[in-house]
Amino acid sequence: MIRKVRFVDPVRVYHMIKNEIDNAYFAIMKKGDLIDREQLKDFEKNLAAFVGTKYAVGLNSGYDALHISLRAGGIGPGDEVIVPAHTFVATCSAVVNVGAKPVLVDVTKDFNIDVDKIEEAISAKTKGILPVHLSGYMADMPQIIKIAEKYNLVVVEDACQSLGSSINGKGAGAWGLTGCWSFYPFKILGGYGDGGAITTDDADVALFARRMRYNGEDRDTGEYHGHGFTCLLDNLQAAFLDVKLKYLPEWIKRRKKIAKQYQNALSDLSDILLPHYDKPGFDHIYQNYTIRSKQGNDFSEYLKSNGVEVLTQFRKPYYKHEALKLEDRGFPETEALSREVCSLPMNVEITDEEIDYVIKVVRSFYKK
Ligand SMILES: *Cc1c(COP(=O)(O)O)cnc(C)c1O
Repeated sequence: MIRKVRFVDPVRVYHMIKNEIDNAYFAIMKKGDLIDREQLKDFEKNLAAFVGTKYAVGLNSGYDALHISLRAGGIGPGDEVIVPAHTFVATCSAVVNVGAKPVLVDVTKDFNIDVDKIEEAISAKTKGILPVHLSGYMADMPQIIKIAEKYNLVVVEDACQSLGSSINGKGAGAWGLTGCWSFYPFKILGGYGDGGAITTDDADVALFARRMRYNGEDRDTGEYHGHGFTCLLDNLQAAFLDVKLKYLPEWIKRRKKIAKQYQNALSDLSDILLPHYDKPGFDHIYQNYTIRSKQGNDFSEYLKSNGVEVLTQFRKPYYKHEALKLEDRGFPETEALSREVCSLPMNVEITDEEIDYVIKVVRSFYKK
């Protein structure tokens, strides 16, 4: 009898790749290569190749990636940026922290921005769109790019949850001015601490980010090119991430298999909605397996009390947090799904026995 299925288990992953992680660690410790060294450059090269862009620039977090991307896009005070009403708060905070105004737009049943509602949110001040690819499934980028071209808007992709996803073979993070990545430990490519990156095809944007992450300094000449920040991806994290990146294609296959197992075992339950959509060409890499249960909190609490660790992001939408002072224009789909979301354990370290247990607990809730 299993008593606990964890949402993610970093210790298990460590043991799966222990030799390589340990070797990366000792190689760095023996040389004292801590900041902006070979490991970071290698990882950037491999990340860019994986995403399908010319450049990748390692940063300290996904938030930094968003923040620096907006600056690279020339977005600042007086500008408006379109963001989805259902996302992690960092998407919106990056807009606020460059002095611009976030304009929220509701999402659709796939948790991503409703492209049919974008145009009505555009004003004379709108300068950018910040679509989010939530849970491993991309926002409708062909449509978003079309709208952006029509209104001459900068597109920054919050791809923090979708490394390896694609539409018609074109990777997440390769559509906009930049793609923004997070290597927070829970992410599909998780480090051993914070981490992030941007990917881009634009040489000027890559150069801008390289300088801004290092206090505005061009490290070759010592010249300051602006007031910057301190937000490099640590060399040590880059080395660990580079080890894990090699496994990602294989790990994504495993995730898809787990998603199939959940689908096969749960699709007959009429009170839950599973994250399987039929948009041709859209790939799902299942960063999260987020289902919707009509029983909301009763459902998620039942799973927790039976030892199944689940996430309920986000029961309270970010725009309802008073201190953020955001305008709630009414987002019915976000409201509805916020009551119902529940992400089941989805990771490469889970065993088949544990998956069966999760399925058993879900089914037992609906037998009551
Ligand atoms: C994780 C995440 C971020 C922020 O990443 P950090 O590395 O934690 O700063 C931003 N947006 C989305 C959608 C995320 O999931």
